[in-house]
Amino acid sequence: MSETKEGVLYVVATPIGNLEDLSARAARVLAEADAIAAEDTRHTQRLLRHLGIERPLISLHEHNEASRVEQLRRRLAAGESLALVSDAGTPLISDPGFVLVRELRGAGCRIVPVPGACALVAALSAAGLPTDRFTFEGFLPAKSGARRRQLETGAQREETRVFYESPHRIRDTLVDLDATLGARQVVLGRELTKTFETFLAGTSSELLATMDADADQARGEFVVMVAGAPPAQVDADDAEGRALLEAMLAEGVSVKSAAAVVSRVLGGGRKHWYQLALTLKDA
Ligand code: SAM
Repeated sequence: MSETKEGVLYVVATPIGNLEDLSARAARVLAEADAIAAEDTRHTQRLLRHLGIERPLISLHEHNEASRVEQLRRRLAAGESLALVSDAGTPLISDPGFVLVRELRGAGCRIVPVPGACALVAALSAAGLPTDRFTFEGFLPAKSGARRRQLETGAQREETRVFYESPHRIRDTLVDLDATLGARQVVLGRELTKTFETFLAGTSSELLATMDADADQARGEFVVMVAGAPPAQVDADDAEGRALLEAMLAEGVSVKSAAAVVSRVLGGGRKHWYQLALTLKDA
């Protein structure tokens, strides 16, 4: 009886600076792959040379990703083991690969993550900002107007916001952060896992002053983390909310739904209105 080997696409994270961050599993998967799809084949070739691995490379970047799908699907159907890497960190995270993974998964192919370095996770893990909830917003728009609009749109979010930024735009982004969010706490994770790794915390204007005093602080790759807005303060005796809750409870609306509606209309945490609604119901 002949046995057909199932093809697998491994999505392999590579280091974001420190080569020791490549996992043993990632090295084995790369060494065993029939081919490696890479964002920049010359860049990946250097990593493979460092690891003593020689495998065929296929270029896969944002401009040819869609056209590679069928070729890679056929290779997987033939039972090959393929790997996808980007220049640094986890593929698909502000890097190519999404279209490929979506299409291959849609075609029923087996896709296996090989996790490892990711700049946003590394930055959050050491920044000292809340991580129970966060929003990753990738790269901000290049133009200041659009950038300020995006920053303003999320100004009331209570969770930590995370952005990727390049050295040639970091100052402009801090200026726009200052203009839109004022004295909000910002943490910059710079050159993570590399020789000049730095964490700088302060308001945007303090961080700009630090960069003015030391130009090196504006060099390298950045993860920008912005503290969330303080939770909206709601007076427990807020008359309007109380009246709304009472009216809804009298109409038979559930405590949960009434709290959700008031929290939507007046702001403030759902939990707070839920507690008040419970008290009112009991009374
Ligand atoms: N896929 C990558 C990941 O998993 O983090 C991200 C790729 S994205 C094209 C590159 C951006 O990630 C940089 O502009 C920077 O914002 C961030 N980044 C990557 N490596 C970094 C590092 N060592 N230190 C700080 N930020 C880094």
